[in-house]
Amino acid sequence: MLDDKEYAIASELYSKGFKILNKDRQERFKELLDYYNELTGFGETEPNAIMHHALGQIGPDCERCGKPYRTPKARLCAACGNKRKGITT
Ligand SMILES: [Zn+2]
Repeated sequence: MLDDKEYAIASELYSKGFKILNKDRQERFKELLDYYNELTGFGETEPNAIMHHALGQIGPDCERCGKPYRTPKARLCAACGNKRKGITT
């Protein structure tokens, strides 16, 4: 799994893959796949799955400052201290 910094790198490689048009899909996202597989030792071949896994780890964007919550279940924004609505435990 990726931490925030690794996720930032992965999403950059992912968007980079979209800009390369003259290669097949596997080739375009090779950098992302290599990066992820080196980190995790997993052997992932599906770029979308990587981003999906990675996104599952962070929460939605903060309503106040726009930065993502640290986890999907975070009740407080780490960046601005905003208390998240709709989460009650
Ligand atoms: Zn915030």
